[in-house]
Amino acid sequence: MKCKICKETAVVALRSHNAAFCAECYKDFFARQVERGIESQKLFTREEKILVALSGGKDSLALMLELARQGYNVTGLHIDLGIPGSSPAARGVVERFCARHGLKLMVKEMAAEGLAIPDVKERLRRPVCSACGKIKRHFFNKAALDGGFDALATGHNLDDEAARLFSNTLRWDTAYLSDQGPRLDGEDGFARKVKPLWRLTEFETANYAFLMGIEHHYAPCPYSPGASFTTLKGLLQRLEAAMPGRKLDFYQGFLKRGRPVFARREEEEGLELAPCESCGYPTSSGDLCGVCRIREALKEAQA
Ligand code: SF4
Ligand SMILES: [Zn+2]
Ligand SMILES: [Zn+2]
Repeated sequence: MKCKICKETAVVALRSHNAAFCAECYKDFFARQVERGIESQKLFTREEKILVALSGGKDSLALMLELARQGYNVTGLHIDLGIPGSSPAARGVVERFCARHGLKLMVKEMAAEGLAIPDVKERLRRPVCSACGKIKRHFFNKAALDGGFDALATGHNLDDEAARLFSNTLRWDTAYLSDQGPRLDGEDGFARKVKPLWRLTEFETANYAFLMGIEHHYAPCPYSPGASFTTLKGLLQRLEAAMPGRKLDFYQGFLKRGRPVFARREEEEGLELAPCESCGYPTSSGDLCGVCRIREALKEAQA
């Protein structure tokens, strides 16, 4: 098979784009898709300061590297969850990656906040992932606001986004359908959230990470309930195999024609946010935010 662009031997074949590429032309293809993803959805500009959430997985590292290559002003943020075995490995990968490429990195330790995930898990005595997710979102958002960043970028790819959309649609969850997308505008107390890899599949991002020599995090979290959305991703994979390109069409069609309708509806219904009584973080619950509730639950368990 030959590269579509330069006719050298191809190393990556993409059915959805009906094309094959050599290593160099593939990197250009990847860069163009990221660029189109940013520009078409007006995610951010080269003048803005972007905070990139770095978990240690290949998607977040590929995102950070590509944005830096394109000249964006990026800083990485890694949240050390304090999980033995898994967290030190993830943090090591992120630190080596940023040092090797000369990229700015901030690390936030949950143990220093009294929120190391094993402690939360032990005291809450219920599945820890939802609390862990709340904690991560809270501290990513806080770091973005405190550091004066214009946007917080995450490495979610097309497979993540299409599976989430599929799941929201199966439940007709209008609240989630109204604000799912590659750009979520900032509002009082919330940073703008962006997903620049939304046009690229897991397979395409993995190829880029491989060709760029990105080392990534292999020690899985011991509390992982298994990959999220596995069944939905599998179904979408089968659809894509039978009809190449459908996954991107499904998601793009939603952005163009579905989301505006749901967004209007949610605006009419309105959701009131007020500052958390303890830390000031915006919340719709009326008193304490999600993380302060977790802190309260930990205190009660300790007493
Ligand atoms: S698997 Fe659950 S506990 Fe582990 S890092 Fe992910 S969300 Fe946190
Ligand atoms: Zn080529
Ligand atoms: Zn709070």
